Amino acid sequence: MSASASCRPLTDLSEDELKALVVEHGGKPFQARQLSHWIWKHGAESFGAMRNVPQGLKTSLADSYAPRTTTLTKAERSDDGTEKLLLELRDGETVECVIIPDRARTTLCISTQVGCPVGCVFCASGMYGVRRNLTAGEIAEQVLVARSRLGEGQKLTNLVVMGMGEPMLNLKGLLPALQRIHDPDGINLGARRITVSTSGYPRQMERFAAADPSYNLAVSLHAADDALRRELVPTAANKVADIVAAAHAYFGQKGREVTYEVVLLEGKNDRRADANALIQVLRGMPCTVNLIPWNPVDEIVELRGLGRPRNARIDAFAAQLRQGGLNVTVRRQRGADRSAACGQLRLREAQAGDAEG
Ligand code: SAH
Ligand code: SF4
Repeated sequence: MSASASCRPLTDLSEDELKALVVEHGGKPFQARQLSHWIWKHGAESFGAMRNVPQGLKTSLADSYAPRTTTLTKAERSDDGTEKLLLELRDGETVECVIIPDRARTTLCISTQVGCPVGCVFCASGMYGVRRNLTAGEIAEQVLVARSRLGEGQKLTNLVVMGMGEPMLNLKGLLPALQRIHDPDGINLGARRITVSTSGYPRQMERFAAADPSYNLAVSLHAADDALRRELVPTAANKVADIVAAAHAYFGQKGREVTYEVVLLEGKNDRRADANALIQVLRGMPCTVNLIPWNPVDEIVELRGLGRPRNARIDAFAAQLRQGGLNVTVRRQRGADRSAACGQLRLREAQAGDAEG
């Protein structure tokens, strides 16, 4: 467990809560802004670094608070520059985030839950269910930790909420975290550079649509046929038509084109009929379909016999969708040599721990 286990992170507090806390500890309201600046702009990990904050206030706060509480426990870099980070939370749970440099861009992929309750059959994050939601501070702290890993002149340009967990099932943590990440006085990342991916919860997508500012939305559809989708995304009983309607309403309200993600599994959802079903449901919609060739997870290959389609099949599937009038992109493989898909590093670490213990 991390050293700061008994302390709460200040990153969990809103600006108003921080102000009230500062006053409660004998400080002046404006000193909350100074604290915020150190936490979000400078990424201060300790009170010691905060030079212009009075010592008395720092000592008083340090009894029960720390600027942030998430610590880096492991970093693995792939040949392509992708870096996967394993982070320990203050109760000893772990989550992953991934830094993905790509020419002028540096994208960070963050998590919203420890594990995931949805249990998609192909995903390492959902193999053992969910342990808990991340707090707003824990979600935003991933950006602070990752930012401190960047090289000279390197800057985070994009954020994707596509790590462990289902973001729509933790809007309570997600929305204030995104606010901090977007806030010009916080991390200052433009809302247009932030994309949240969901396995499709129409009611929560409506709530997400009410958020200000508006972020980009990606919907993990995987299949346009309800029965097949239920097989792949077992606990999401939501109907394809309702999910697509909610995504379309999001576009209507926010003017942001929705991306549909389809993780391609050999012989499962990569057939001609599967492409046709997608065309039927999505044709005419302002959207892009992002095909993601499945990144094999050893345990899942053994347990369920799933496989990644050959490149020729992926290309044929993409071509069929295009012929059907859809915009299609195919995700390039990143960090394949380092447990690239979400949840894999944590799973492997847990197994190594079991083997050692
Ligand atoms: N729970 C959300 C966000 C996290 S998953 C969601 O499902 O959208 C982010 C994306 O990674 C999803 O599109 C998911 O389908 C995909 N994914 C999960 N495991 C994968 C794997 N082993 N290979 C490729 N993509 C995977
Ligand atoms: Fe959860 Fe997304 Fe993984 Fe499905 S793909 S189990 S929703 S993290």
